[in-house]
Amino acid sequence: MNVLVINTGSSSLKYQLFDMNSQAVLAGGVMERIGETKGILTHKEFSTGREVKTKKTPVIQNHQEAMHLMAKLITQKIDAIGHRVVQGGENFKTATPINGDVKNAIQANNPLAPLHNPPNLIGIQLAEDLFPGKPQVAVFDTNFHQTIPEKAYLYALPYEYYTDYKIRKYGFHGTSHKYVANKTAALMGKKPDQVNLITLHLGNGCSISAIKKGECQDTSMGMTPLAGVMMGTRTGNLDPAIFGYLMDNTGMTQAQIDDVLNKKSGLKGICGLNDLRDIHERAAQGDKLAKLAVEMFAYQIKKYIGAYAAVLGHVDGLVFTAGVGENDEIVRAKALADMSVFGIEIDLAKNDIRSSEPHTIHKEGSRLQVWVVPTNEELQIATETCQVLTK
Ligand code: AMP
Repeated sequence: MNVLVINTGSSSLKYQLFDMNSQAVLAGGVMERIGETKGILTHKEFSTGREVKTKKTPVIQNHQEAMHLMAKLITQKIDAIGHRVVQGGENFKTATPINGDVKNAIQANNPLAPLHNPPNLIGIQLAEDLFPGKPQVAVFDTNFHQTIPEKAYLYALPYEYYTDYKIRKYGFHGTSHKYVANKTAALMGKKPDQVNLITLHLGNGCSISAIKKGECQDTSMGMTPLAGVMMGTRTGNLDPAIFGYLMDNTGMTQAQIDDVLNKKSGLKGICGLNDLRDIHERAAQGDKLAKLAVEMFAYQIKKYIGAYAAVLGHVDGLVFTAGVGENDEIVRAKALADMSVFGIEIDLAKNDIRSSEPHTIHKEGSRLQVWVVPTNEELQIATETCQVLTK
């Protein structure tokens, strides 16, 4: 079965076509700046090596044009389509074949993900028009976190805010956490339900999850992807009173403060840069704030590892993934320093090795295994699409 995975953003479209017999990527592409004056399009056909790359195409007017372009560029057959959908609320616990009710439920969850769910739904509708009769499946970022117990997902607000406004922790990056957890269990020679893992998805957005026997028990992001550890430009956890204090004392509007918390904070807020490659370069030149940003980031990651070790009771392994998790040995070494009390001992020489293959970075004799495992959310979506359709 060939499964096309579609991820529609507000001004972007990413897609990959998988042959699920071999799990090989047949074709894939990215379109960015949809609706802007100069679009960017990259498409690659992996079987032939044919690459279409235009840095500045004439305008890609809208998602409809982008999807038509994609359909024209893909020459292989498509049997089914898997959509990444960010927010499924409490309605969806697993990958779900799309019908009218599912689309209505996605729309009903728009207020919880106003930047993501509407374009996701546009992608679904366009794909239905473009590929009539082909089965379509929604895989929600929130699915994997639906096993989190009530005591962990509720905020200590008046209870009716949960029932009336759906205010609770939903978590994000669920597809990535699930992929690396299953992959790591297999690499350890175990089934997912035989291990307890702490998975660390550290990229521009960061989330950390506590996974017991394959089921998520807690995750660091919250009702929105602003919570948890500090990120490239996002604050992570804050004292909630800071919001009102800023409103009262700076004259900023709610929208302006939202913008600061999401786009001007985190690593960037502390040192002016959000890409850790640049931050390390600055730190090496002696920049105090660049050094501080790295120290804060590693400290916050360390605290979550400690907290989630307590949540799980027994931990078999840690798994680092995404841009920072896979590539940044400095952050990993700092976050894992002096954690022998938790049974974590890393081998600094192994930690320095760069590889695109999954590998371990713990010392022989470390009670916990520490893995670096490249994530593959698209393959996970394709796999779940295939599973739900062949069930
Ligand atoms: P992601 O959101 O998973 O694509 O991760 C993007 C982030 O990963 C970038 O902003 C960088 O901070 C980080 N990153 C990517 N490559 C490297 C690298 N080679 N070394 C350190 N950090 C990296």
